[in-house]
Amino acid sequence: MNNDEWIMINDKSQIDDFTFLSYLMRPQYNHTLTWSTTRITVLEYCNKKYYFNYYPHSLRPINEDLRLNTLMLKNLKSMDMRVGEKTHHLLSDYLNALKKWDLDEVAIQSFKDRVEDEMRKEFEISKTRDYTTYDRDHKFWLSEHYYGEDVDAKLEEVIQKVLHNLGVFLKSDWNETVQHYFKTAKTVFVEKPREKDFDSMKLNLSSIPELKSLNVMAAPDFGVVFSDNKYLIIDRKTWQEKMDTDWTSDQLKIYALKTLLKARTDIDTVEIEGYEVYLPSLNKIGSKIEKTDIEYIIQKLKEDMEYQKQFLVDGDIVMNEPLSHEHFARTTSAKKCASCTFRKVCGDLKSFE
Ligand code: SF4
Repeated sequence: MNNDEWIMINDKSQIDDFTFLSYLMRPQYNHTLTWSTTRITVLEYCNKKYYFNYYPHSLRPINEDLRLNTLMLKNLKSMDMRVGEKTHHLLSDYLNALKKWDLDEVAIQSFKDRVEDEMRKEFEISKTRDYTTYDRDHKFWLSEHYYGEDVDAKLEEVIQKVLHNLGVFLKSDWNETVQHYFKTAKTVFVEKPREKDFDSMKLNLSSIPELKSLNVMAAPDFGVVFSDNKYLIIDRKTWQEKMDTDWTSDQLKIYALKTLLKARTDIDTVEIEGYEVYLPSLNKIGSKIEKTDIEYIIQKLKEDMEYQKQFLVDGDIVMNEPLSHEHFARTTSAKKCASCTFRKVCGDLKSFE
């Protein structure tokens, strides 16, 4: 497979908290511990941030206002994070339509207009700093506004970044390659980030006894099934590029594991290639997934689960009740705190310690 055959698509934004919370609150769902690359990264970044992000309900007996503020802060993002989210939406809108129809300039412009319009309207709502109701249709709430920063001058820049990311893709060879896959591959999967399907995101780990109670959620941005034993997985990134280009990310290994579990096969009998593709550079990082990659990621899941268990009452991942907040240490890095969305409630919590 040559370079032109690689596709990039959407950014893997974090799962939307409100939508995921609704999913968790379904009557048939239990609250078993969840693993994701984002979640374990947050835990390693700062234990207290992990506590605020994943266990805000446990603040209820401490102070109700603190709990509500924490819940609200979970849903704020910085402008840079919104660039990734909106790029993800725009590319998904384009690719899902391209899968069904030939698209002309007018159709493509309509996708761009939609996202630009959303960003402008949501920015204005964000500026009002009215957090008394949660409106799930307006997700452009910005942490900068919450913390009183004037970011009016940055709005045009972030809109143009999002539109530019689509423009780069449209001009690349990959735009043709995608259309070739749509016509010739057995199946092509394009994620729909506007309509999260959590059931389909879940890995079925029942064949790995030590992990069968763990929730692992993962869905690639773009997947191609060429045949019963040949797959391609693509994840798009808008963040700073990694310098080590020989490195295959844990996220890609999880997607490969999911593919194997779903197909009820093992890596010896199939060929899976996985790549992260960066926007706007279109650089790609990844490789063919090897047996050692699969063994590594299964072992990492086990080790990470043991680490996460240390923060749970009785280490019970099914009950998934956190220890008290004192067990979650604050980072000593002032730099991390300076950009942390939770810095307000993190400071407030000190008065209860
Ligand atoms: S403000 Fe600092 S210590 Fe507090 S949660 Fe954020 S990163 Fe951690």
